[in-house]
Amino acid sequence: MASMIFCDCSSSTTARLLPLSCHKLRHSCTPLHFSPYLTFSISSSKTSFPFLSIKSHASSTLISAKMATENTAKVIDGKSVAKQIREEIAVEIARMKEAIGVVPGLAVILVGDRKDSATYVRNKKKACDAVGINSFEVHLPETSTELEVLNSITKFNEDASVHGILVQLPLPSHMDEEKILNSVGIEKDVDGFHPLNIGRLAMRGREPLFVPCTPKGCIELLHRSGVQIKGKKAVVIGRSNIVGMPAALLLQREDATVTIVHSRTNNPENVIKEADIIISAVGQANMVKGSWIKPGAVIIDVGINPVEDPESPRGYRLVGDVCYEEVVKVASAVTPVPGGVGPMTIAMLLSNTLSSAKRMHNFS
Ligand code: NDP
Repeated sequence: MASMIFCDCSSSTTARLLPLSCHKLRHSCTPLHFSPYLTFSISSSKTSFPFLSIKSHASSTLISAKMATENTAKVIDGKSVAKQIREEIAVEIARMKEAIGVVPGLAVILVGDRKDSATYVRNKKKACDAVGINSFEVHLPETSTELEVLNSITKFNEDASVHGILVQLPLPSHMDEEKILNSVGIEKDVDGFHPLNIGRLAMRGREPLFVPCTPKGCIELLHRSGVQIKGKKAVVIGRSNIVGMPAALLLQREDATVTIVHSRTNNPENVIKEADIIISAVGQANMVKGSWIKPGAVIIDVGINPVEDPESPRGYRLVGDVCYEEVVKVASAVTPVPGGVGPMTIAMLLSNTLSSAKRMHNFS
């Protein structure tokens, strides 16, 4: 059944991608919001990197026992890791409520009537409800002015019961996305996209208040899978502001030697072949072949790519950037798509919201 779509890993054209409409679907929302299975998860902590919660007890549970095929890579089960993280968050929220009577609050601003955006917002609300985070929502019409959106953000910035603010992307084209995102108070920027947060992430000796959820989820998966990062060669494929670039910064902070591969990199396979750890965030189905992988490497596949699948009721299915069938024969561990990084993203959003509430109320 993986048939025509998946088995095309080795061809240079990779899988048959869905037509533009589907790509638009992906690009139309922040990657954070695309995946339908992105419904839960995240974590936090307050070691030297407040954004990396390293729980030694969990390390053995992360790489799921299930093997993709005999003699192949272990599957890093993001779904179960995310579930575990959500449970930890729920415990922490209950503890905080009991101790100081504070419940974390997450506000989401949705503009327009895109069905996919509405679904993501609904999923976030459900995830919040499940762990005990209060959710607040403002839904503005497509025809709203930029000022109306900015006013909503200002209200949430000033509301002490709100600890995190998230603007659902994409915004209507008449709005200045950068201006709107920059108006979210840095101390409530749970998406971690504010330039100040990214700047601090990049600087030695500085700590960001929040780390973008998807890269944070990638590192959390590595930690909880017991993968050593320090001293390893890591390659990040993709350099977007929301995934590739912060993922590379995080790996560097973890003392990996990091190389970034992007669309202008010559012979990317030669660079990737050197890596002990690969994080791929490109958005091209099955681009990374088994022959590009160093034996024993660990692969975190962030890509979510719709490809035609006549056997699926939806007419398409989701695959990663990495040709899973090939790499499982070479790598030591790999995240599946779906069920790898996707479930971690919302978990990290919940985690950032909890961290924010703790920080604001000086609760540890
Ligand atoms: P962007 O389109 O913003 O960035 C893609 C990056 O990939 C760019 O840096 C681009 O390089 C690089 N790239 C493109 N083609 C190639 C190539 N042939 N070889 C090497 N590099 C290439 O995407 P995002 O970072 O937003 O998302 C990437 C993928 O991750 C998507 O599939 C998205 O759906 C998914 N995603 C999944 C999430 C999850 O929760 N699981 C969350 C976020 C994203 P250049 O800079 O040179 O253009």
